[in-house]
Amino acid sequence: MADASTSVRAAVEAAYRARTEESRAWYERASRSLAGGVSGAVRYFAPYPTYIRDGSGAELIDLDGNRLIDCFLSGATALLGHHEPSVAAATRAATERSSLLFNPTHATETAEQLCAMVPAVERVRFVNSGTEAVMNALRIARAFTGRAKVVKFWGTYHGMDDQVLTGLDARRRVLGGGIPASLVADIVHADINDLDGVAQVLAGGDVAAVLLDPTMHHCGLWAPPPAHQQALQQLVQDAGALLVVDEVISGFRLAPGGGQEYFGLQPDLCVFGKAFAVGERLGAIGGRAEVMAVTDAARTHGGPFAFQSGTCNDSTVSHAAAQAAMARYRALGPAGYAAAAALAQRLAEGLTAAFIAHGVACHANHLGPMVRLFLTAGPATAEHCTRLPSAPIDTFHLALLTEGVLTLPGSNDFFLSFAHTDVHVEQVIAAAGRVLDTFDIAALVAEAGGAPQ
Ligand code: PMP
Repeated sequence: MADASTSVRAAVEAAYRARTEESRAWYERASRSLAGGVSGAVRYFAPYPTYIRDGSGAELIDLDGNRLIDCFLSGATALLGHHEPSVAAATRAATERSSLLFNPTHATETAEQLCAMVPAVERVRFVNSGTEAVMNALRIARAFTGRAKVVKFWGTYHGMDDQVLTGLDARRRVLGGGIPASLVADIVHADINDLDGVAQVLAGGDVAAVLLDPTMHHCGLWAPPPAHQQALQQLVQDAGALLVVDEVISGFRLAPGGGQEYFGLQPDLCVFGKAFAVGERLGAIGGRAEVMAVTDAARTHGGPFAFQSGTCNDSTVSHAAAQAAMARYRALGPAGYAAAAALAQRLAEGLTAAFIAHGVACHANHLGPMVRLFLTAGPATAEHCTRLPSAPIDTFHLALLTEGVLTLPGSNDFFLSFAHTDVHVEQVIAAAGRVLDTFDIAALVAEAGGAPQ
């Protein structure tokens, strides 16, 4: 039996190597200067990553000249597609001005647009990434409430700050080294589905914030229904804690007003990144005026103060991109969002059917323009699916690259953009069918046992 995983994997790697010689050579070169050959852990996959030359719309060209349908969107940022004309024109014009100005008017304009699109956002501060936005939101919540603890649901990712790199999967451990226990000491893990458990934690009276990714993306898009999320909000706010909605994934992707619009939430604070400036560097913390007032350097309100700053928060190009992107999201309207969600539903159904036709049990979650795939006949729950063996799905995603579809090997994500069409989606489903015809993924699944690890 050990032969199937070795030989199927070897066949997929051979097919990958045969069409990515330039990427292989670049990986060797990159590894001599760039640590590990890439600029972030999730950009690497074995045997070596694909290096991309350029992108347009929903498609990419790699160094070897292969055309790829992009279902990773550069970490879910390219929600409007690559090189979207209105964003490209805005950023081109912005490069005619100085890249960073002291108190530029464009920061106010971006804030005005965000406040107009997201009702819970009455005041805004800008940063450069989702990670920074989460860090700042937690500091603001702690300053406002005078409390230290933060509730984090297991299975969620909220960026690279030490304190939130914990409980990313069902094992509830800290991710990697370099994070002393003292830095996660004020994080309390909870189960999103266990509202009684959350209520018990809140009863201690020492919780500053409950941090919620309403999509539950990292552990597999196991988003609880709106009524559950609204009940959670009620519990949190009744306990005098703040609900911090992390919109880094859901923002602009589920609705122009983000996950909070989609799930009917009214958070105290929320954070944006990724699709906010579609690849330019901009994150935001927004929320109730009374809460955000803690960042006010003039201290006009006379209450607590939280330091919030950052040298590059006002980048001319980033703000131009965000303003153009927000205008596009508004212009798409409900029909544009419904069409993207319908494409994701078609993709989920097509992929599931392809696996089942090849004798592999499969479950797919889809939410907005996102799909997650689980090769299992077991219970469709996060607890079960986050423990599945990863080798079969990793090999499937590597094989998809050989058929012209970029997803992220090492994850089971498919991200669609507003530039994807039904033709792209049918091509991805057809590519999955060819992978399953060519490579015995069923043998890999059988050998891995499909049993939780
Ligand atoms: N929150 C969520 C929900 C995310 O998915 C991510 C990134 N994947 C972050 C925060 C961190 O954002 P960034 O990578 O821009 O720091």
